[in-house]
Amino acid sequence: MNNVFVYCEMEGSHVADVSLELLTKGRKLANELGCQLEAICAGSDLADVEKQVLPYGVDRVHVFDAPGLFPYTSLPHSSILVNLFKQEKPQICLMGATVIGRDLGPRVSSALTSGLTADCTQLEIGSHEDKKNGVTYENLLYQIRPAFGGNIVATIINPEHRPQMATVREGVMKKEILDENYQGEVIRHDVAKFVPETDYVVKVIDRHVEKAKHNLKGAPIVIAGGYGMGSKEGFDMLFELAKELHAEVGASRAAVDAGFCDHDRQIGQTGVTVHPKLYIACGISGQIQHIAGMQDAGIIISVNNDENAPINAIADYVINGTVEEVIPKMIKYYKKNSK
Ligand SMILES: Cc1cc2nc3c(=O)[nH]c(=O)nc-3n(C[C@H](O)[C@H](O)[C@H](O)COP(=O)(O)OP(=O)(O)OC[C@H]3O[C@@H](n4cnc5c(N)ncnc54)[C@H](O)[C@@H]3O)c2cc1C
Repeated sequence: MNNVFVYCEMEGSHVADVSLELLTKGRKLANELGCQLEAICAGSDLADVEKQVLPYGVDRVHVFDAPGLFPYTSLPHSSILVNLFKQEKPQICLMGATVIGRDLGPRVSSALTSGLTADCTQLEIGSHEDKKNGVTYENLLYQIRPAFGGNIVATIINPEHRPQMATVREGVMKKEILDENYQGEVIRHDVAKFVPETDYVVKVIDRHVEKAKHNLKGAPIVIAGGYGMGSKEGFDMLFELAKELHAEVGASRAAVDAGFCDHDRQIGQTGVTVHPKLYIACGISGQIQHIAGMQDAGIIISVNNDENAPINAIADYVINGTVEEVIPKMIKYYKKNSK
């Protein structure tokens, strides 16, 4: 009762990375609240699925295993969560801000009149004083995310209704195994008790999943280009440098909008979040929406012709110059040194 729940997204019998990241965060929240962490895995052929989630510090795994539960469809998964939550009364529910989470979250929160904050970038526990009514709420979930076009960072709370629901994009939280041998209870539910037959009305006849063209999210070195790269040809230089450094190329939204680079390489609030050891920002000014997607990088190098560019304030090293003069030199010297 009143625990932290994470809905685990399934790809076949594999738990999605975003869910494992949320289990890691959920464990920390549960520790602060002094409650348990519970995971929900719903899909088909889920024998041993608990082995994937228990090491993240899960105290209870709810398994719903039935042929109609994979691939995901809205109605059965919504019924599982709504009915389970009526029974278990969680205080917090987290899920990925993925295509599935964006469909499932609002359905569940609306059925339970609980409210939901999408695309959170931080989750913390804190109190809130309602001065008007003279009430202080303890142990609330601070659901923190950029708001008003990214111009402010808003902390959203839900004092009265439960569960406090939040979605988080993949890559925003860190995935960390707590203990390979962590012991938790596994509950295999009778799916028919949660899902009426009529929920299986939608049948997935064919499914095509496109493989990712790159590994931007997991790359240890990211070379990102901005509007200052000037053209698609300017980005060709970055791809050449990336080849030398075994890096991936990312981009700012301005560069993507200008057609210099594909959309799936956009880094930031409305793009991918990256955590590389090294981030080289080339011709990027460093607006808050961009920084939201790369601020956890280990070392940041900025190449910019404006010494007052905001990105320079968070950079470890600043190269003041044009990308046209600096990037070819970097390619030349890395080539020379790697021989
Ligand atoms: C709701 C919302 C969501 C957003 N989401 C994102 C997001 O996910 N990711 C994102 O990146 N942005 C996002 N943005 C856009 C963001 O506000 C900025 O507009 C964008 O990040 C700017 O990109 P930029 O730094 O490449 O371009 P600019 O701000 O135009 O900066 C170009 C930089 O290049 C430098 N420069 C120019 N020429 C050269 C040269 N020859 N050599 C070296 N340096 C040079 C300039 O000095 C400048 O610093 C979002 C905006 C909104 C409103």
